[in-house]
Amino acid sequence: MYFLISDCTQDQKNMDLEHFGTMHDNLTGIYNKYGFYRQARRVMEENPGIPYLMVCLNFSDFKLLNGLYGMTKGNELLMRVGSMLRRHYGTDARTAYGRIRADRFAMLIPEVIFDPDAYLKTVETIMHGLAAIHFDLQIAVGICRVEDNRTPISILCDRAFLAASVLKTQESNGYVWYSEHMMSEKIRDRAILSRFSDALGRGEVQIYLQAQVAADSRRVIGAEALSRWVCDDGRVIPPAMFIPILEEHGKIWQLDYHIWELACSLLKSWQGSEDFADYSISVNISVKDIYYLDLYEVFTHLVDEYKIDPAKLELEITETVFMDKPKEAILLIQRLKEYGFRIAIDDFGSGYSSLSFLKDIQADILKIDMGFLRKTEHQERSRIILRSIVALARELGMPTVVEGVETSQQVHDLVKIGCDIFQGFYFSRPIPVADFETRFRAGEIQPLRRKSGAAGNVEEEAE
Ligand code: C2E
Ligand code: CA
Ligand code: CA
Repeated sequence: MYFLISDCTQDQKNMDLEHFGTMHDNLTGIYNKYGFYRQARRVMEENPGIPYLMVCLNFSDFKLLNGLYGMTKGNELLMRVGSMLRRHYGTDARTAYGRIRADRFAMLIPEVIFDPDAYLKTVETIMHGLAAIHFDLQIAVGICRVEDNRTPISILCDRAFLAASVLKTQESNGYVWYSEHMMSEKIRDRAILSRFSDALGRGEVQIYLQAQVAADSRRVIGAEALSRWVCDDGRVIPPAMFIPILEEHGKIWQLDYHIWELACSLLKSWQGSEDFADYSISVNISVKDIYYLDLYEVFTHLVDEYKIDPAKLELEITETVFMDKPKEAILLIQRLKEYGFRIAIDDFGSGYSSLSFLKDIQADILKIDMGFLRKTEHQERSRIILRSIVALARELGMPTVVEGVETSQQVHDLVKIGCDIFQGFYFSRPIPVADFETRFRAGEIQPLRRKSGAAGNVEEEAE
């Protein structure tokens, strides 16, 4: 008899390694998607009586973190999360956890041992522990209760990530529990997203103009361009219905660029006209634009291409635009101002504005949001605050635009306080360009309808 003996330890090791590799994530060493799905199924089968939660975690704008600080920083964060999961749940056979892909982590955990607040805190600590990151990554945790143990793990993950994505549209870290209606909303969002590019191409996304009126002369001096999606059946979709979805999916720059271009083309068509040549148009800049576009290049190129005066194009920014990259943003504003654009601080007083912002940004115009005053019953306090803001702006050499003016009483009070420009339903709602051109020629305000005996009063329009 001959026996052939060979040492297959290495082969076995290689096979184990290969198997490990197909089930594990080579960056963090924890399960990958396939490993996690398998392990989660096994864990649930072995513990049939235990109520489980599927907990999913991801970071908003993770791609931007990689873009700004390089892959190494991004990888460091992911590895730290992996180690945290191993440390906290590694020895508990009732749990499963893994990295599903990119910055997406999933965890199947018995409901009794999961504390969402503590979990969030731990991830926050990890994030803040990353040195030299001046970037506000948002942590989004989605939690889905496992009602039926037979539900495929992939579906449970989808639900938990869907819940997490709901949080992404808000501003702070947090967790969201999955609920049934989220799925139908998601389907609606998808429909809007998939139709948006076509709508742009077909010219369905248009600008509506809302007149801005000088307080002293009561003449129109310009307008804010606000986007509207005018469907081919005539339905007009307001920006609140699509802007948050476009922002969430990194497409807001497409809308904004389109609106800026329409505004420039309109300014061009007004050039030399007796009625509109003096009007300026203001446009909005979204917080995400700064990541996707070189705004200096874009705006200087646009005014160059349309051969218009940059001083006629007002750029409205909110403080949120500056939160992530304040130094770069301040520099950008300086350069745009030097080029001749006028800069307006939008929504001042709405909760996204602070005095230090006012100090750092040398804007030309301050737009004050009346909304925050309207919500309160303390009329007198509101008046004092408004008066102080207007006085402050005046000392800083910035004219004020008060938005949301709805009644003649407000106009009267605001004039006394010293506001410079009004924008609100009292004078006009945002209207299509053609209507604007009919109603507001050469600074004049044409009423929509006249009250009997009250010639020229447009208050009827206010709701
Ligand atoms: P915003 O920039 O503060 O624009 C003013 C909003 O206040 C407009 O809402 C306008 O219709 C509304 N408004 C004006 N006067 C009154 C009033 O007297 N009373 C009340 N209750 N509301 C008044 P709209 O057009 O629905 O736009 C909402 C927001 O969507 C805008 O707020 C702006 O932040 C954003 N948005 C609109 N178009 C664009 C765009 O093209 N790009 C970007 N990034 N954001 C846009
Ligand atoms: Ca605005
Ligand atoms: Ca505003």
